[in-house]
Amino acid sequence: MKDVPNILWLEEIRKEDIVSVGGKGASLGEMASIGLPVPPAFVVTAQAFRRFLVETGLDQKIYKVSENIDVENNAALGKAADTIKGLVIKAKMPVSIKDDIKASYKKMAQKDLIVAVRSSATAEDLPDASFAGQQETYLNIKGEAALLSAVQDCWASLYGARAIYYRAKQGFEEHTVNIAVVVQQLVHSEKAGVMFTSHPISGEPLTIIEGSWGLGEAVVSGSVSPDHYVFDQRTESVGETTIANKKVEIIPDGSHGTKLVPVDLARQDAQVLSDGEIAKLAMYGKIAENHYGVPQDVEWGIVAGTIYILQSRPITTIGKKEGMGMSGQSKDAKILLKGQGAAPGIATGKVVIIRDVKDTGTVKEGDILVTRMTNPDMVPAMRKVAAIVTDEGGMTCHAAIVSRELGTPAVVGTKTATQQLKNGQIVTVDGEMGIVYEGAVGGLTQAKAGAAVPAASGGSGPIITATSVKVNVSIPEAAARAAATGADGVGLLRIEHLILGLNKTPGWFIANHKEEEFVKELYDGIKIVLDAFPGKTVWVRTLDAPTDEFRNMQGGESEPHEHNPMLGWRGIRRDLQSFDQFRLQVEAFKRLWKAGYEHLGVMFPMVSHPDQFIKAKEMMRGWGVDVENVTLGIMIEIPASAIMIEDFLKAGIKFASFGTNDLIQYTIAIDRNNENVADMYNPQHPAVLALIHSAIQKCREYNVECSICGQAGSDPKMAIWLVEHGITSISANIDAIAKIREAVARTEKRIILEAARNRDAE
Ligand code: PEP
Ligand code: MG
Repeated sequence: MKDVPNILWLEEIRKEDIVSVGGKGASLGEMASIGLPVPPAFVVTAQAFRRFLVETGLDQKIYKVSENIDVENNAALGKAADTIKGLVIKAKMPVSIKDDIKASYKKMAQKDLIVAVRSSATAEDLPDASFAGQQETYLNIKGEAALLSAVQDCWASLYGARAIYYRAKQGFEEHTVNIAVVVQQLVHSEKAGVMFTSHPISGEPLTIIEGSWGLGEAVVSGSVSPDHYVFDQRTESVGETTIANKKVEIIPDGSHGTKLVPVDLARQDAQVLSDGEIAKLAMYGKIAENHYGVPQDVEWGIVAGTIYILQSRPITTIGKKEGMGMSGQSKDAKILLKGQGAAPGIATGKVVIIRDVKDTGTVKEGDILVTRMTNPDMVPAMRKVAAIVTDEGGMTCHAAIVSRELGTPAVVGTKTATQQLKNGQIVTVDGEMGIVYEGAVGGLTQAKAGAAVPAASGGSGPIITATSVKVNVSIPEAAARAAATGADGVGLLRIEHLILGLNKTPGWFIANHKEEEFVKELYDGIKIVLDAFPGKTVWVRTLDAPTDEFRNMQGGESEPHEHNPMLGWRGIRRDLQSFDQFRLQVEAFKRLWKAGYEHLGVMFPMVSHPDQFIKAKEMMRGWGVDVENVTLGIMIEIPASAIMIEDFLKAGIKFASFGTNDLIQYTIAIDRNNENVADMYNPQHPAVLALIHSAIQKCREYNVECSICGQAGSDPKMAIWLVEHGITSISANIDAIAKIREAVARTEKRIILEAARNRDAE
């Protein structure tokens, strides 16, 4: 082995050193070597790791365990991985390595510096290091003891079950794999953002800088509209400055995580960067661009007047956001429409414009259904088509929810699809990017997204999380796909879809003395879902369809015309007044409970006062339900119920679940289905987060399960925030389960680890 020291400082590293410092270490080293102000860092080399293995005798032990693993046997693989990780974590680090790390840490700063400790994969030929599991990162590490154990944890992460499986499949020799660890000062930026070193579309020598207060995450994630500056490299002057109203910022949250907070008034409209800082940043951008030979997309941060360059990568990523599509071959394709990508997948087909539900008979297998907005009674047609495009709606509209469950690509909120597209015209729909292209676009076409059900495990057994990860279901035919995700139960079963697909309103069944038919329909539909989740809780929500969704069905003529159906006669308020409608639903539940489906829980939507819950419970008692022994809970989707959560808890709810689709619209007065205001529909609005946070706290106090079933729960960033704030379970869409489970697992691990470290440090 080449005689490489245990530690290499960034300044000493060149890109050839990748075998010693890994991909991350090498790229940081290269940035530092060209004079970019990268936060100080050193790398514990792969050779140090090797010495650790040899000197502790672990190399032999690991070899013995790994030699005979049958990687296809999940249980055996998991056990072997745990054994090896345990060996690595418990082994005594050789004094020479320990001393080198401690000395380097001291050299970074006299006082205990807060650092990030990251694994850095060394195998150059690992095409996807993250898949190989070598990506553990520990933030906010402070003090020698915590640092040493974080390094050892990174080493252990080399032996995750996924990583071992992957290496076995790729034919890597277990006893030759290595790992390096980057130890870097953690930069808690006071202001931060991104920079494109040349104009991202025209390529002109104009440096575009976007910046805002707090951590750069706010700009990167789009949570804030940042200041926008253009620096003209030709005249070396600031050409354009647009100061945005910056309402929120992301800042570190205690010892772990980050939080979104409002910006104080004084800074909201203040300019983030001085002209001097803009010029300096642009200069660093130029250095990076010249060195790498292509325009760069750079992340930067500033602390106490010092600029740090955090990351630099080629600008190609922007093109993708601009709609290059998945294969990039759509550059020449003509874009006809843009909207919101509501259900992933790509499909090409013939346009069929549906102006009235009666026309759905003309829809054929493989067509592209184009309509103003889908209705529940269009579901049979939605099942057949290759993709769906609507004029109206946002991510939580009917079309979006059902398309995701059917696995049919969908673009919603295009505003003009029904006017611009023509019957019979061939188009290609990209449901991820929210784009409709003219004609069949080569290279983009793929099967319906539904084919790709996220697996319950990635080859190394399911990830177990303390926070339950559940799934939302609306149509029974999605139950099997939903169960295949390995979800811990159903956090929301919307039963209106069972009824509305029949094209008759509940009122019609009652008026026509077809009550038994109605109950049977509910019973059968719910049973399919219960059967798919044996032993796991399934929260069935009572009917919640606004009156306008009933309009086109048989019986719809008796529905009242409401000025604003979203604020109208829906959810529990309607059921409490429509005794028969409520009674028939309860009858179906009663029969299911009687048949032994004890895992059925009932969830009431749109409650705004505990009296509604109490009244619903009393009515159920009157119909013979043993209300104290069944699981009854509420949705928190009106600010009133979040604010009054303690009264609900006192009234005996057994669980609560945030319906953020509604909670957001009622908190910030943004119609969830109105594409004109869709860009203001913000799940992370501080007021929404404040309501959620305080309700979670109260539920915890009362030891009552607190969950989320709105669309926001399918966003990993939101899931991280929710876990950090103590949520008990998260219910996500079928297509989001895998990524939510992973986000939850990582967050939990980080929290546990940090708590343990804090304890050790005390
Ligand atoms: C919600 O409001 O977040 C929710 C899950 O219910 P729905 O989307 O059916 O209104
Ligand atoms: Mg709702």
